[in-house]
Amino acid sequence: MTSGMTRPVRAVVAGAFLALAFAALAGCSFESEQKVWEISGPVFGTRYHINVVMEDDQARLESLASGIEKVLEEVDASMSTWRPDSELSRFNSLTDQSEWTEISPALYKVLERAREISLLTDGAFDITVGPVVNLWGFGPEARPEKVPGDEKLASVLDAIGYQKIELKDQPPSLRADPRQYVDLSAIAKGYGVDAVASFLAEEGISAYLVEIGGEVSVKGRKPDGDFWRLAIERPVSGQRQVDRVVAIGNRAMATSGDYRNYYESGGERFSHTIDPKDGRPIDHNLASVTVVANDCMTADALATAFNVMGPEKAKALAVRENIAAYFIVRGEDGFETDFTPAFSSFLTQ
Ligand code: ADP
Ligand code: MG
Repeated sequence: MTSGMTRPVRAVVAGAFLALAFAALAGCSFESEQKVWEISGPVFGTRYHINVVMEDDQARLESLASGIEKVLEEVDASMSTWRPDSELSRFNSLTDQSEWTEISPALYKVLERAREISLLTDGAFDITVGPVVNLWGFGPEARPEKVPGDEKLASVLDAIGYQKIELKDQPPSLRADPRQYVDLSAIAKGYGVDAVASFLAEEGISAYLVEIGGEVSVKGRKPDGDFWRLAIERPVSGQRQVDRVVAIGNRAMATSGDYRNYYESGGERFSHTIDPKDGRPIDHNLASVTVVANDCMTADALATAFNVMGPEKAKALAVRENIAAYFIVRGEDGFETDFTPAFSSFLTQ
């Protein structure tokens, strides 16, 4: 239920779960040796599921699994706000953030993309919103008994803003004034997917599906020549229903919705996504938004930003910027779906 990050533990090599009936029938002996293998494990407070297409080679699978673990551990050790010893947490706890702090190239890359998405979405995406997230009880701090008061919200809102953090690339460095609490929960999962995808590509794996907590990146095709097919879930709490099946080519996809991470207080439902304009959990009829992009970090951040903006504003921006987005809105008679022209080629039927 939480989007927080925790330390990954050993991955499990689950074995082939998809044999290659088609290629085998066609008598294609080379292709029939390729199978889909699954590697999975816990990470970032959720789970990762990775499918790789390769021959039956247990030693290589084991080595891929430990390589993946190492990649994810590095991301977590850099970007988690749930680990006091992470690179980001150490910056967050500095009393004086106004001096340049040198940061890893990975953290720089994510902060830079976060900034671009903030500018593109007029601040709907804002990684400094953490103190407000914590006020509402979705951060590493304990959940509050009551919803925060207006005055408290106003003073916290006044002090934050993505414009208050600054980046410099030689060497990669970060500073903030006044002191900020940087929260990458809405983009780091996507970056983790990209990091694993790059690792697999470097290892010579030409077809894979990498998924962390619903954010996914795919490349190549399955051994039977078919594209990877991904399900967009219908946003029903506590249930898994498929709304649409898509094939996105060599791209990434992320979904942001109000139906999984929320809490109820006094009969009201509070989302963990905060509108940085008023410091309140988002509250509109957009139940979920899915974005397809070339990389998963962009898809992840855009999905959260669109979720903040709501269906009309988000769609207008996505159409203008030629972004592939799919919206599920709560209508009078159940769910209504809508998508941008850039999304239409991914629909399988
Ligand atoms: P979703 O899948 O619903 O988009 P994510 O885990 O990607 O959820 O992002 C939600 C998390 O991002 C929140 O728990 C909070 O830490 C942080 N967050 C909340 N509002 C914003 C915002 N407007 N911009 C950036 N990050 C946010
Ligand atoms: Mg997100």
